[in-house]
Amino acid sequence: MTNVLGVWPENPHQSQVLRLLRDDGAASRAELGDAVGLSRSKVATELDRLLERGLIETVGPAASRGGRRSSIVRIAAATRFLSVNIGATTIDLAVTDGELRVLSRVTEHTELRQGPTTVIGQALELINKVRADSGTTRFTGAGIGIPGPVSFREGVPVSPPFMPGWHRFPVREMFSTELGCPVLVDNDVNIMALGEKHAGIAKSFDDFLFVKIGAGIGAGIVVGGAVYRGANGCAGDIGHTAVDANGPVCVCGNVGCLEAYFGGAALTRDALAAARTGRSDHLADQLAQAGTLSAVDVAHAAAAGDPVAIGMVRDGGRRVGQVLAGLVSFFNPGMIVIGGGLAGMGHALLAEIRGVVYRASLPLATGDMPIVLSEMGDQAGLVGATRMVSDHVFTASTPT
Ligand SMILES: [Zn+2]
Repeated sequence: MTNVLGVWPENPHQSQVLRLLRDDGAASRAELGDAVGLSRSKVATELDRLLERGLIETVGPAASRGGRRSSIVRIAAATRFLSVNIGATTIDLAVTDGELRVLSRVTEHTELRQGPTTVIGQALELINKVRADSGTTRFTGAGIGIPGPVSFREGVPVSPPFMPGWHRFPVREMFSTELGCPVLVDNDVNIMALGEKHAGIAKSFDDFLFVKIGAGIGAGIVVGGAVYRGANGCAGDIGHTAVDANGPVCVCGNVGCLEAYFGGAALTRDALAAARTGRSDHLADQLAQAGTLSAVDVAHAAAAGDPVAIGMVRDGGRRVGQVLAGLVSFFNPGMIVIGGGLAGMGHALLAEIRGVVYRASLPLATGDMPIVLSEMGDQAGLVGATRMVSDHVFTASTPT
């Protein structure tokens, strides 16, 4: 596997230069020398090699700092990263430049249940469309997010719930054959965590937890600035942590999982029950009007002051907090970021999670640990996927 130019950085100094240019934009040779900690002549050698091999380019002269004039360099303008985020009902796709700025973006409705051949076929059609729109001939790398457990090493989903036909389907291989560039596949939560690290509220944190509350519940664990995936790639799958040994049976077959109580499916079930038994007039009206209810209706009802819906949000927040309190003691994160479709339940949810975590964890672990809502929304996955694959192509090794 090689990148668009068939070349990779040759050593860690070159990798570091590429990542600096990606994260901070164009810089003078002198600034890069300072940042990388190399002498002027050594950094010149590395930059000349990167120029020769087309990974960077010169944009113009830098202001003089005395002595020989320095020039400004940046990531090669032809660099293009692709982000593909496959959700339960949408494909969200973006093309970025080498500094991960979005050049074009397109979102289309899909149904994961149609199976991988159909959904990936649809994604590839969309890719051809943005490729034409953005005048991209080839991608430098592509990051793919899917809403389920992934074997990161193999680039295949592993027993994803609600995704018939996707188990061990060669997702990475299909995309890389078609695109002819390095492709990495990971679950959406890890990718969102990387997005928060790159451009979100966790930018200045190297050790933090990103918790996604949406159709399911999962956590991305960032350690030393990189995602920790565990031995088999399922680290952070906290939706299936047991919170009550006598609780309801979960879709995974176990009893009393967090997701059996909270998350899209559980809230939909509880909302329907509350509407049909007349406990919540608000939800009953909504059901009569729309013929159906979802977790989003619970969020709206809670925001409108419906006591039953507020109770559901608080109960859910308490259980999420219970699980997070254990993780805080174990992992000592610098921050917890809450995101995902139901993070919009906002402050009632956040207040409950905070209350439980701060009460149940040791003061040393929570002393200055903020628990905050993501400010990135759906941008987190979009940026995270390109961050993931650019980290990979800007690494001084040649993976197979
Ligand atoms: Zn479960």
